[in-house]
Amino acid sequence: MTTEYSQQILHVTYPNAKAHAALLREGGAPLLEEEVKTIKSALKSVMKYLCEDKRNIISAIGFTDGAGKDLELKSLNDEDCVFAFREEGIAKCSFERAFYNKEISFQKPISCHLFPIRISGKKRNIIRYEEIYECRDALDEGKEKKIKMADFLKSALTREYGKEFYKGLKEKFGGK
Ligand code: SF4
Repeated sequence: MTTEYSQQILHVTYPNAKAHAALLREGGAPLLEEEVKTIKSALKSVMKYLCEDKRNIISAIGFTDGAGKDLELKSLNDEDCVFAFREEGIAKCSFERAFYNKEISFQKPISCHLFPIRISGKKRNIIRYEEIYECRDALDEGKEKKIKMADFLKSALTREYGKEFYKGLKEKFGGK
C-alpha cells in the first residue's frame, strides 16, 4: 500500500491524552462501519461508567450520527462524546476505562486512537496531522519530553497499518 504522510507527523512532538478535550470539541469522532458492531458488544461494559443522561440517550436513540463515510459517534452539543465521562472535571473515555480494567478488548475507535492525525482517502492511505489550537499544551509537553508524534502514536499506527508499515515509517524518518 502506498501511503502518503506529511513529514510533519514525524517531527511534531506530542505527549499525552490532553488532546482529548480537543477531540471532543470538534464534534463526533469519525467511526468505521465495522466498529459499530464491536461497540454494540462492548456497551454493557462501558455503560456503567456513563452518567444516566448518556445511558438514556444511547438506549433511546443510539450512539451514532450520519452514515457511510460521514458516520460518527454521537456528541452532545457538538462537544461532548456520548461515551465520555468526567472525573474531577476531566473528560475521559469509557472504552479506555473498560479496556484498562480488562473488561473489553476494544480500546476505542481508531479515529480517537490516532488523533490528532486523521486518515482519509478510499484506501485510508492519506495521513495528515490536524493542527488544533487546544492541543498547544500537549505539543509543548511533547517538546519538553522529546516525544515524537510517531512514537506517541505507535500503537495506533500499528493497529491501523501493521507492524511492517510502522517499522518502515521509523526507518525512513525516525532518525530525522
Ligand atoms: S470514544 Fe472515547 S476517546 Fe473517542 S471521543 Fe468518545 S470518549 Fe473520546
